[in-house]
Order: sequence, then structure tokens, then C-alpha cells
Amino acid sequence: LLQLSAPLNLLGMMYREVKQAFTNLERLFGLLDERQDVQDRDGAVPLRVSRPRVAFESVRFAYDARREILRDVSFEIAPGGTVAVVGHSGSGKSTLARLLYRFYDVDAGRIVITDGEDTAHDGTGYDIRDYSQASVRGAIAIVPQDTVLFNDTIYYNILYGRPAASRAEVEQAARAAHIHELIVSLPDGYESEVGERGLKLSGGEKQRVAIARALLKNPAILIFDEATSALDSKSEKAIQAELDRIAIGRTTLVIAHRLSTVMDADEILVMDAGRIVERGSHAQLLARGGHYAQMWRLQQQESRAEALAGPQPA
Ligand code: ADP
Ligand code: MG
Repeated sequence: LLQLSAPLNLLGMMYREVKQAFTNLERLFGLLDERQDVQDRDGAVPLRVSRPRVAFESVRFAYDARREILRDVSFEIAPGGTVAVVGHSGSGKSTLARLLYRFYDVDAGRIVITDGEDTAHDGTGYDIRDYSQASVRGAIAIVPQDTVLFNDTIYYNILYGRPAASRAEVEQAARAAHIHELIVSLPDGYESEVGERGLKLSGGEKQRVAIARALLKNPAILIFDEATSALDSKSEKAIQAELDRIAIGRTTLVIAHRLSTVMDADEILVMDAGRIVERGSHAQLLARGGHYAQMWRLQQQESRAEALAGPQPA
């Protein structure tokens, strides 16, 4: 029944909305006009996990065969655990998220998702290419750096996380994301139009909508891709606290710009030019005195300078 309900719900939506949803989702990942070569295998099984373990095993990937982007990347996120990825822009961090969401398939190696509770698979799990793409995407929610709002009501913008959700569930998600109060204070409440042609929300408000969407989806796997990097430091702290809260008990991949947000991760991976060049806990990486320790020192200096300069205009 669960398998059937997702496509039926989609069918039930207006064509315009479906088309818009896909357009926006693709834009979210900068994928418009690019190859869409991921297809389900014959006999693909639905992914049904409550506490998944996610493993990248010697993953290699190139958007263009002439330039390898990920080179032999291996890591594992324990059921309900958190792995953080840091590194310069262009080092391949978002590509990890795109592969896990199965926008692309790996060129070599594999990504395995195992149900932490499921011993029937012998704990070996399945390659994500053996699961239906729709079910993999159904199990994952992404909070991106820059949330795209659709030109529609704020209600629809949250509902998008799970189109079958009830009004009460949408409001509950909005409350949990601390955006409900703002919404009901608007003249049109949940029916307020947002997006390019509607009400302009601030970066922090948009991120709260993204969090509400993710909460509504109630995913087993969460991905934060620089989810707070577009925010001023005050909103960042507030949103970060919410992200930490929704990640509890979920298998989480955090791609981070600011290192202060990854200190508590089970493991931190430092990426450089498509490779993991350092890995460990925050304390281990500081003790090692390598790239991470250097990045940490730089960011500490920056935040001290910011504090000395006083509050910045928003
Ligand atoms: P990060 O998130 O660490 O900044 P990305 O994973 O987004 O890095 O990108 C890694 C590299 O892959 C970059 O050099 C980027 O230019 C390239 N890249 C990203 N997306 C595409 C794409 N769709 N087609 C071709 N190259 C891409
Ligand atoms: Mg990125």
C-alpha cells in the first residue's frame, strides 16, 4: 500500500504542480538540461528503512569522463549517526549528496543502504541501484544552502515535503520549524503567495520552510548541504539548533561550511579535489594538526574579528 500511495498521490496533484515541483527540484540541484540517466533496474525493490546505515564504498564518479570528481571515496554513517563533510568549494561535497539522492549513479564502487534493524539481509544491505529511485528519494530529505520557494502558497511550499499530508500535519511541521507564528500573522496566513511573484521571505525564514518540508517528510536519512551558510550569524545559530534537533535519531550527512556546526559529528571527513584527505572526530583532527586544524584556526580568527567589529548590518 505504501508503495502505491506515492505515485497515486502524485497523479492526484494537478499537472501544473507536478511539473513545477520537478522543475524546482531540478533547479535546486542545478540539473536542468543535464543528463537524466538514472533508471530503475528490472526487479528494483522499494527501500524501506527506519534506521538505515549508509555506506560509500570506494566510490568514483565523473560528470564528464575526462575529469574525475570523486576518487575512491569510502565512509559509513551508522544508523541514526552523523557524518560531516568539510572542504574547499569544488572539492566534491555536494556531489556526494547528489549521488546519495541518486541524481547520478556512481562510475565505480557502490553506495549501500542497510536497515540497521533488519538482520534478514545479513547486515550487508543493498546497493542503492537495486532500490527503486522513487523509494530512495522518499527516504531522504535535503535541506540545501539556498531553498527555492515555488511561486505558490506557503502551504503548498511546506506540503511539497509530503503531498499526502493533512492540514494538521503541515501546521505541526511549521510549528516545529518555528515558522507557524509568522505564517498566521500574515493577512492570508497559510494561503499567502510566496516566491518570486509573492511575499519575499528572508534567508532564515526560507530555511525554516525547508526545515518544515523536511520534517513533514519525516525521512530516515537527512542531508544538510551548507544549510546555514547563506544566513547571518544570529539566524545561523537559531537554525543550527533546529537542524541539530531534527537530526536526532536520523542517519545524517552534514555538508558544512562553518566548522563550528560539525564539532559533534561522529566522524568528520575533509575533502580535497575529490578525495578524503583527513578523517576523524573534531578532537582527533585538531590533534593531528593538518588541514582541518588549520581551517579551524582560520575560522576562529575570523569569528574573533567579527566579534570585535561588533554587530554587522543584516
Ligand atoms: P562542492 O560542493 O564541494 O563545492 P561539488 O560537488 O558541487 O563541490 O562540485 C565538485 C566539482 O564538480 C566542481 O569542480 C564542479 O565544478 C563540478 N561539477 C559540479 N556539478 C557539475 C555538473 N553538473 N556537471 C559538471 N561538473 C560539475
Ligand atoms: Mg556544494
